[in-house]
Amino acid sequence: MAKAWIHPTYNNNVEVICICWNTFTVSSSVAWPIKVESCPACHPTYTGKKETKIVKWRIEKFLEKQKRIDAMQSK
Ligand SMILES: [Zn+2]
Repeated sequence: MAKAWIHPTYNNNVEVICICWNTFTVSSSVAWPIKVESCPACHPTYTGKKETKIVKWRIEKFLEKQKRIDAMQSK
């Protein structure tokens, strides 16, 4: 006898939201949108690039800060 009551509801269109703003749908027992930090649109394995958009943005911010510090110290 199958224990139907122990199986969760299976949802076919669950939205996945990535931090790179890419969204896609998956099938899951979860009923709410899933938030992820990496997806096929931005992960280096799929894009072939060494760095992700987010990492690139962080490096740019760091270099910007470093430039400001250098400017302050040279005064
Ligand atoms: Zn992504």
